[in-house]
Amino acid sequence: MPDLFIDGQWVGAPDGGRRTIVCPADGSVVAEVDEGSEADTLAAIDAARRAFDTGPWPATPYAARAALLGRVADLLQRDKAAIARAESLDTGKRYVESEYDVDDVTSVFRHYAAVGAEPEADTPRVVDLGRDDVVSTIVKEPIGVCSLITPWNYPLLQASWKVAPCLLAGNTFVLKPSEVSPSTTIHLLRLLDEAGLPHGVGNLVLGAGAAVGGPLSSDPRVDLVSFTGGLATGKHLMRTAADTVKRIALELGGKNPNIVFADADLDAALDMALTAVFLHSGQVCSAGARLVIEDSIAEAFVDRLVERAEQIRLGGPFDDTAQTGPLTSEAHRAKVEAYVAAGVAEGARLRTGGARPDGAAYENGFYYLPTIFDQVSADMSVAQDESFGPVLTVETFATEDDAVRIANDSIYGLAGAVWTSDDAKADRIVARLRMGTVWVNDYHPYVPQAEWGGYKQSGIGRELGHLGLEEYQETKHIWRNTAPTVQGWFA
Ligand code: NAD
Repeated sequence: MPDLFIDGQWVGAPDGGRRTIVCPADGSVVAEVDEGSEADTLAAIDAARRAFDTGPWPATPYAARAALLGRVADLLQRDKAAIARAESLDTGKRYVESEYDVDDVTSVFRHYAAVGAEPEADTPRVVDLGRDDVVSTIVKEPIGVCSLITPWNYPLLQASWKVAPCLLAGNTFVLKPSEVSPSTTIHLLRLLDEAGLPHGVGNLVLGAGAAVGGPLSSDPRVDLVSFTGGLATGKHLMRTAADTVKRIALELGGKNPNIVFADADLDAALDMALTAVFLHSGQVCSAGARLVIEDSIAEAFVDRLVERAEQIRLGGPFDDTAQTGPLTSEAHRAKVEAYVAAGVAEGARLRTGGARPDGAAYENGFYYLPTIFDQVSADMSVAQDESFGPVLTVETFATEDDAVRIANDSIYGLAGAVWTSDDAKADRIVARLRMGTVWVNDYHPYVPQAEWGGYKQSGIGRELGHLGLEEYQETKHIWRNTAPTVQGWFA
């Protein structure tokens, strides 16, 4: 079956182009998908534009749009095993983690289905002017055609954060997943089709970033670009989108601090410090890649951390003994290797890792050992640049002020955590951290009810929560004069 979805039809690449998808765990071929072209993207934008301008979806009541999202949630659960398997094969992540991802994706659809089903979802807000002759109301409307562009690390999850609110708000879209992990996004479009999405409302194009995705940020028929991915791509899209003043939403990288005070529950902090950075081998935008630790406990804490990191078992998606998997591609591993080499050259002390694992089981995959650097200072590239791999840097502090200064010393501001048993101290630190999410005595949880996004160069706008819906809405003020009279301004 063809893989591009344009104007309600499944179509193949017109020139017969195919892309081979490889499992990062062992280099095996797991899928072949149609490779689209710029012409496909233009056709998809055209379909989305017509569906918005002349189709039923934008004016469909919220309750009906919400019901469709609810049906998609049910279908996701019906197909959970197949989707989780495909996600693991494309990304190399453990099957059990892909199962969690499908549940998370389902809860995102259920959340926005519930929001849309609330009686006040379509109700205009009345502005109280204290006047009898005017009715002033605010209504929310869809923005129009949305370009949705997603990365490879959590392919379906990142797509769901965009697709569910985009559809609930009444928009139409063209979605382009990462070329290295498209399988589950193709599956999602099949489910939207099965759930009854009108033709042209949801469109899918596949292929290499700029070659296929170019028109997604430049075409004047597009009204909004919502992008999750790297900083350089985000800046490029923002510049291109500026020519036609498109709405823009960016979820970019992070260099997230995990601050540990001496008065924290150190066993819990240590356990979570490992999860914070090594989950999915560090290929998480909110990874706790910078341990910022009080100097009085640093040495003993880092010794234990190194010992634990060395016990982490690497393996493929269906290896029940594995605790985490490979990096996504040979090219990505090469970037992580270059990043680690720069750290060594700059004088950071490599405590563990910094190499590929030995053993026949790892030979054909893109594995990299959990890696820890200490004696890191803020001027080193390893303290500033996102590795997007299994690499932890350790910086120490003596005072609260130091901890905050080190934590905030980044162009990014996506997420961070503070560990302390002193609630007042936690409150003081939280208030001073310049990040979109801060965890206290925890790391990583997110929920569809709460906004997600970055300060500074981690992005623009928010996904999830209430604001994650508003990203996809225009606001119209309607002023209705109920007793028009001659005013005589130019009399
Ligand atoms: P990337 O920027 O290379 O690619 C992301 C997507 O953009 C892909 O689909 C790619 O094909 C597409 N793309 C690239 N150039 C394009 C262009 N000119 N026009 C249209 N589309 C284009 O990022 P990646 O390597 O896939 O993902 C890793 C990055 O994503 C990391 O920096 C990570 O921090 C970030 N990320 C952020 C979040 C978040 O919530 N903030 C979540 C996940 C990943």
